[in-house]
Amino acid sequence: MALSDARKNGIITMEFCSFMRQMGAVKSFKQERYTYKNQACQIFKDKDDGEATAKANAAKKAVKTIIDKGFDLPPDLRFYCTSNYEVQNRAFNKDAAWNTVSWITLGTTALQGGRPDATSSMNIAGFCKGDITCIHEIGHALHAAARGDDFHDPAANLTGRAANAAAVSGYAASNKKEFVAEVFAGLMVGRHFSTAVMDEYMQYGGPH
Ligand SMILES: [Zn+2]
Repeated sequence: MALSDARKNGIITMEFCSFMRQMGAVKSFKQERYTYKNQACQIFKDKDDGEATAKANAAKKAVKTIIDKGFDLPPDLRFYCTSNYEVQNRAFNKDAAWNTVSWITLGTTALQGGRPDATSSMNIAGFCKGDITCIHEIGHALHAAARGDDFHDPAANLTGRAANAAAVSGYAASNKKEFVAEVFAGLMVGRHFSTAVMDEYMQYGGPH
């Protein structure tokens, strides 16, 4: 089912405008282009964020990890590292003209804190919390790009709670989009899931 223009405009107002407001509050960004195996993304570092370099390193580790697992980066992948208190770790996937973008904001809980029941808080060799947070957000971006408008359609099968969430993480039980991002993050860092989990992940169009 196609999304109405009214609904698209509502999403643009809610999401893109909040992205613009939050990033507009940053005085100055230092921009960096990062390329790995011929795939590129942009990293924006708030000059007032003392953790910006560490967040950028986590973003690079995430990009390397997913490319090494055989994935292409989602469209127009950017990371915005800032200490602006309003900013959450989040993937925005539509610009003002409804183009698909992958603009990931990394706020004050990118490297520590945040939800203790998320995959990012698990003790996984070779990955710190920031790395897994970035992989999780890229998972949302890949999922949104794969599903298209359907990602925002309340009539699609992405609302409500995933049946197999408990086998993934506490955070995965939030809703089906979080389930997909948590399974993706788990797979990228070497977790293994049951057939039931993987079947459900595929049913929602999880990145594969
Ligand atoms: Zn998420």
